Amino acid sequence: MSSSTPILQSLIADRWVGGTAARALLSAVNGREVALTHAEEIDFGESLSFARGQALPALLKLDFQQRAATLKALAAYLMERKEQLYAISAHTGGTRADNWIDIEGGIGTLFAYASTGRRELPSSNIVHEGPAVSLGREGSFIGSHVLVPKRGVAVHINAFNFPMWGMLEKFAPSFLAGMPCIVKPATATSYVAEACVRLIQDSGLLPAGSLQLVIGGSGDLLDRLEETDVVTFTGSADTAAMLKVNKNLIRRGIPFNAEADSLNCAILAPDVTPDDPEFDLFVREVFREMSAKTGQKCTAIRRAIVPRQHLDAVAAKLRERLAKIKAGDPSVEGVKMGALASKAQQADVAERVALLAQGNEIVFGERDGFAPLGEGVANGAFFAPTLLLCRDAFANEAVHELEAFGPVSTLMPYEDFDQALALAAKGRGSLVGSVITKTPALAAEAVMHAGAFHGRIHVLDREAAKESTGHGSPMPALKHGGPGRAGGGEELGGIRAVKHYLQRCAVQGSPTMVTAITGEYQRGAKVQEDAVHPFRKHFEEIQIGDSLLTHRRTVSEADIVNFGGISGDYFYMHFDEIAAKDTQFGQRIAHGYFVLSAAAGLFVSPAPGPVLANYGLDTLRFVNPVAIGDTIQARLTCKRRIDRGNRPDQPPQGVVAWDVQVMNQRGELVASYDILTLVAKQAAQTAA
Ligand code: NDP
Repeated sequence: MSSSTPILQSLIADRWVGGTAARALLSAVNGREVALTHAEEIDFGESLSFARGQALPALLKLDFQQRAATLKALAAYLMERKEQLYAISAHTGGTRADNWIDIEGGIGTLFAYASTGRRELPSSNIVHEGPAVSLGREGSFIGSHVLVPKRGVAVHINAFNFPMWGMLEKFAPSFLAGMPCIVKPATATSYVAEACVRLIQDSGLLPAGSLQLVIGGSGDLLDRLEETDVVTFTGSADTAAMLKVNKNLIRRGIPFNAEADSLNCAILAPDVTPDDPEFDLFVREVFREMSAKTGQKCTAIRRAIVPRQHLDAVAAKLRERLAKIKAGDPSVEGVKMGALASKAQQADVAERVALLAQGNEIVFGERDGFAPLGEGVANGAFFAPTLLLCRDAFANEAVHELEAFGPVSTLMPYEDFDQALALAAKGRGSLVGSVITKTPALAAEAVMHAGAFHGRIHVLDREAAKESTGHGSPMPALKHGGPGRAGGGEELGGIRAVKHYLQRCAVQGSPTMVTAITGEYQRGAKVQEDAVHPFRKHFEEIQIGDSLLTHRRTVSEADIVNFGGISGDYFYMHFDEIAAKDTQFGQRIAHGYFVLSAAAGLFVSPAPGPVLANYGLDTLRFVNPVAIGDTIQARLTCKRRIDRGNRPDQPPQGVVAWDVQVMNQRGELVASYDILTLVAKQAAQTAA
């Protein structure tokens, strides 16, 4: 142990803990000491009570929109300092491209959640999962669902392969949901997570205790959790299986979301020939998943399933590419594949490859001249890219069960597509599967069968290849996680991930009560009508339930003819008396879009005012026909307001959604929709 090696510290209850050296963490490239873990024990009681007592109330003082804005500021802060993170990450053995996934992929996920939150969440701490349903005949008793902050703590136990991305992709949705996080990174690469948390802490952007960091073991943390807490885990299936049966978690019904090892596959469909671009795409994808991050990706292709007649051609092309790859210290010019994360991983992968080799052939491996480049690499954790061939994958179970978490993949032939899909299913649940085909019907068949066993299916052909982000990239907008042995958990998926950290609650009551609870006007609730037209009010003045009942308008044949002339819409229902007689309406009716336009004419206040723009409609339905001679009237009611804060590039403004009901002379609803507007704030007036 060298005295100059830095000792990592945990961030507990808003202060750094640790100063006494414990375990040395070694560079994956040359075996030199990078950092030391600390020996001090962590008081998890203190950590949890700080999270509950200080961080949680501070987080809930902010609303979703404010937390989204904080995430964006944090992402920008980290992006400006990314080179510090690249410097420390070099010790993990990854190339710059590998570390890009971890560092900029992680920061990108913060940006993505900031913008998802801004677009999809309200400026409050309650999410309404509408629409409400009527539970009585008269409309005075309705029901709906809301999502509220869990008022607990999120514990994230992370894997060694992506110390930053793995932390940030879980932190972002938890923070947005209003949960303080306690993160325990895998010890082997915890120096990267610590560097990132130090920057976050230095930024001063987060309420104190929003993010706590645990270097080393998690002690009695899980035993101290309460009913409102959640645990997420990424790592091996064995550890997941052990932790999820923690008695305290079971007794208190604490959710445990696991993402564990997965034997992902890529299928080369039977329609693809060696002359097709799809053939090369398949080879490229398998090669990339073996070499990127030295194969230490939970999504890497472990099983390459190919038509028997193309087995030799695929093997030859892969051999050719693997033979050219330069492995070694990523700082050496031209190196494209780095080291495994640690000596322990190196030994583990070697042991698993030896087991996988039993009864199978090695198409490419160490004996093909593996010589990593760089100084001191003999002490590093390098591993030769290894391609195996399993001729009968229905007889050999190991290839579907043993995950060698390194640059290792196994080719397995099939006779027909049903067999290919049966082999895919033998992974007993995977994070991702790729199907490389040029035939849409085969893609549809694959998803129909393999969808049950996969968290994500990536269909690749020449068209998608132009922009495909690849088999191995989990995207913030799409679900990451798979059934069965992949852990059965779910992460990411846009707003879905935020919902994992909120509690869903059904609510029942009168429309007035449900309006107050959800912060969204429900039809049938009491409304306020005053002398001031709602469109003449600034954002701050508009209240949920502010309503306007318009004057009336009788629809004439001239309206229909004029609207047809303006729009060019001469559909028989509006213009052909004879044909219209044979329809379910028995007569000509007005264009639905005319009704919409006429309703706008009824409710707008035309003079310039605080309403800056109408940017769309939601949930539009033409409920009943409007015939010549019918008289329509509209009711406009403020349904939802979202304060997105102020942006330097825009005049201060907020989003207001208006519920619109258009009725006929019998009081029947003829059209129903929400209009979405941008409304200036009073602050805009003052500024002007
Ligand atoms: P582990 O399951 O051993 O570790 C994962 C995380 O769990 C680490 O943070 C680890 O901490 C922690 N942990 C381990 N034991 C306990 C415990 N008793 N209580 C609380 N936390 C615990 O996986 P490894 O990281 O060692 O990787 C082993 C294998 O897992 C790989 O070879 C690969 O097959 C698979 N894997 C899968 C990943 C995926 O994304 N699906 C990612 C990484 C690995 P510590 O490091 O301090 O032990």
